[in-house]
Amino acid sequence: MATVIDGKAVAQTIRSEIAEEVRQLSQKYGKVPGLAVVIVGNRKDSQSYVGMKRKACAELGIKSFDVDLPEQVSEAEVIKQVHELNANPDVHGILVQLPLPKHINEEKVLTEISIEKDVDGFHPLNIGKLAMKGRDPLFLPCTPKACLELLERSGVSIKGKNAVVVGRSNIVGLPASLLLLKADATVSIVHSRTNQPESIIREADIVIAAAGQPMMIKGSWIKPGAAVIDVGTNAVDDPTKKSGYRLVGDVDFAEASKVAGWITPVPGGVGPMTVTMLLKNTLDGAKRYIAQNN
Ligand code: NDP
Repeated sequence: MATVIDGKAVAQTIRSEIAEEVRQLSQKYGKVPGLAVVIVGNRKDSQSYVGMKRKACAELGIKSFDVDLPEQVSEAEVIKQVHELNANPDVHGILVQLPLPKHINEEKVLTEISIEKDVDGFHPLNIGKLAMKGRDPLFLPCTPKACLELLERSGVSIKGKNAVVVGRSNIVGLPASLLLLKADATVSIVHSRTNQPESIIREADIVIAAAGQPMMIKGSWIKPGAAVIDVGTNAVDDPTKKSGYRLVGDVDFAEASKVAGWITPVPGGVGPMTVTMLLKNTLDGAKRYIAQNN
């Protein structure tokens, strides 16, 4: 049976480490990290993610700057707000909650965030540096960073291993594959047009699943002893639950946990780690700012 990687526990450990560093920064320099979260409109899911991020900041002593804009706000106004946050020395990280309403060009807005404050790691310059040999981005995207952190903290070695990433989105699959490559894995990427994904996944010592396809990866697709990180978060109908649904990953956990060496559950695996990596990026941004200005 696989070792189940407890994302909640690892996240808690990292949050304690961050809280301690925040305390030390405040004591030594009289400064605390600041995270600005910009939200446009009233989408319930976005409101809930933003609420979680702001609450987590408060718990760790990180100052949160709230910019709540109405659905009808103009693109120019969102960009103006981003520019103000870029210029604010107390803000070390800026996050624009996605998706933005249709009349606002997301790419344009994200490109306006200073790369020094790009704690989501989505700025094309940061992604470009991630893709280039010998260059280091200022920030790594939070979910892929969470996957690597879980592997490293579980003692899974990456160098020289065969890794497969299922999914190639800008926010998870693609940066996860680039991070694995930087960590010296031999990386394959499986996507919706891949023929016989199972034959590629079976060769993998490390699988990062981020396709958004409930339980698509069967136990028989997993190489015995492999490390399986399941990013997928899919709601499936479940009449036995009060809510009428439950969350499952992209991996068939019951089957795969009998074959894998390590596996993350859904929920309780990558999810709790993602916000934690955002807080870590904000702390790192603040440390870099303080080092350059003292
Ligand atoms: P996207 O829908 O943007 O991307 C999905 C990717 O999976 C695409 O590259 C797509 O291929 C590929 N794909 C779709 N179907 C298949 C298939 N049958 N076989 C192989 N590849 C397939 O999703 P995201 O990357 O944003 O998210 C992926 C999952 O991760 C979702 O379940 C999401 O909820 C979850 N998630 C969880 C987070 C967390 O913190 N735990 C954070 C972010 C996401 P193609 O490019 O060809 O279309």
